[in-house]
Amino acid sequence: EAVLPLPASTRIFTISNQKGGVGKTTSAVNLAAALARTGAKVLVIDLDPQGNASTALGVEHRSDQQSVYDVLVSDLPLADVVRSSTEHERLDCVPATIHLAGAEIELVSLVAREQRLRRALDAHLDGMDQPYDYVFIDCPPSLGLLTINAFVAAREVLIPIQCEYYALEGLSQLLSNIELIERHLNPELRLTTILLTMYDSRTNLAQQVAQEVRDHFPGQTLETIIPRSVRVSEAPSYGQSVISYDFASSGSLSYREAAAEIAWRGASADKEHD
Ligand code: ADP
Ligand code: MG
Repeated sequence: EAVLPLPASTRIFTISNQKGGVGKTTSAVNLAAALARTGAKVLVIDLDPQGNASTALGVEHRSDQQSVYDVLVSDLPLADVVRSSTEHERLDCVPATIHLAGAEIELVSLVAREQRLRRALDAHLDGMDQPYDYVFIDCPPSLGLLTINAFVAAREVLIPIQCEYYALEGLSQLLSNIELIERHLNPELRLTTILLTMYDSRTNLAQQVAQEVRDHFPGQTLETIIPRSVRVSEAPSYGQSVISYDFASSGSLSYREAAAEIAWRGASADKEHD
């Protein structure tokens, strides 16, 4: 496999879209796996009470285990809940448990409720000899305090968009939330990446939606489109990414290409800063 350029400093992505079922978790897991395989050190933080990213990475998330919930609500150091994935030696995961469902409410009364993930992640990265190259935060399908914590902890937003009729509906709400966060809580936050997912090339509609997204976000939309593929949806039940589940499949290929685009875009952004 081709070696990709590593970023000059940790790139922290939040994978957000308040719609469920658009490919957030699938994209977090497969992009992370693809980047780890090409030489990067990667962390996935599961911020969805469902814990689907944890499952897909082969990381246990029973309700009696410590998780990102304890980090957010009880100030447990992130290092205490980082687990190795079964997917790759360079890929770690902070699991979510069902307790996280209560965190939206519990966080409301806490000090610095929007900054809790940011503080924990910054402290963890500062304490590492060799920090992560990429962190992906997998968000729940809502715009509550968990997602806000992800927006505050991240530098980049990645929005997966499903190529279907209602794709752009609700997007303006997401965009104005990102703008609010940027103005009040995290001036560094940028929408850098849009990934078209579950594309069915046989339908005109999918092509129209893809074109419409590109027209709106020419600079952010990746060239690579993730096709709808059964292999992609089968992989998590084996605790695998689609890349280790079926390396040669179209889903694997497209997630590896999308990861390469993300890496190269970061490398050219690093160059501009030199
Ligand atoms: P979200 O995290 O946004 O709720 P998921 O990543 O869990 O969305 O995806 C929703 C469902 O669609 C899952 O069952 C997943 O396996 C399936 N899925 C995601 N991407 C694809 C794809 N490219 N092809 C086929 N099924 C997919
Ligand atoms: Mg999900």
